[in-house]
Amino acid sequence: MTVKIAVAGARGRMGQLIIEEVGKFQDLELVAGFDVRGVGDPLGGGVVVSDASELAEVLRGSGAEVLIDFTTPAATVENVRAAADLGVHLVVGTTGLSEDQRREIARAIGRRVAAVISPNYSLGVNLFWRLIEVAARSLQGYDIEVIEAHHRNKVDAPSGTAAEAVRVLAEATGKGEAVYGREGQGLRGEEIGVHAVRAGDIVGDHTVLFAGPGERLEIKHQAHSRQAFASGAVRAARWVAAAPGGVYAMADVLGQR
Ligand code: NAP
Repeated sequence: MTVKIAVAGARGRMGQLIIEEVGKFQDLELVAGFDVRGVGDPLGGGVVVSDASELAEVLRGSGAEVLIDFTTPAATVENVRAAADLGVHLVVGTTGLSEDQRREIARAIGRRVAAVISPNYSLGVNLFWRLIEVAARSLQGYDIEVIEAHHRNKVDAPSGTAAEAVRVLAEATGKGEAVYGREGQGLRGEEIGVHAVRAGDIVGDHTVLFAGPGERLEIKHQAHSRQAFASGAVRAARWVAAAPGGVYAMADVLGQR
């Protein structure tokens, strides 16, 4: 049995790779692709880029079972709403969603469809989040700094992956406050420091540094290409097609909880 897949952001950096990845598997079929540019461009297998404004209509006609969305926060809210209304399951990779947008998305999904939402679909980063939690619990009282680096075209900062790292670290240590960059006079407090580098074509680096008396530990993940995200997103799509309604994380796909 094949799972019918649609991709929103089909002409984007991630969308193109995801479509390539879908094409590698016999049990997956690309049935639609959406973007605001390149409308009409071929995506393979007779599928062409559809105008994002016609998402609901095309989605219905295509028989898509899962929509993979790597677009922008505003587009994702609209796309999730349309897909959930049609009973189409979701894999959401867009980062930079506000709290309001997250709530809006969760409300639209409810128990109507199953949705995996993750700021990072790579296996390595999902392990990285678990490792930093262990380190934070073991190194109570150590100073913690999160440093991330991405390409010059990334619009949201800090990255969704770094934001999730801060959430994990805050929960593990009870440190409530994060300080984003530093400038001027003043000593560091008990905060988690967060620093975002934007340069060139860096795919995505994340380091969490724990420093205490006489030592420091650094846990670091580096993505060498977007392939790691595309493979994970497609794995999530196969999983979500058979999942009961609700919102899931990549940890659920990986059987880690
Ligand atoms: P990108 O190259 O800018 O691709 C996004 C694509 O979506 C663009 O072609 C964009 O068109 C298009 N788009 C805009 N509005 C749309 C709509 N309403 N419907 C359909 N398509 C629409 O960006 P990217 O590097 O692929 O990243 C996309 C998102 O995924 C970002 O939020 C990024 O941070 C995130 N991301 C997540 C992961 C993960 O593992 N979760 C990994 C990498 C990236 P225009 O350029 O013309 O606006």
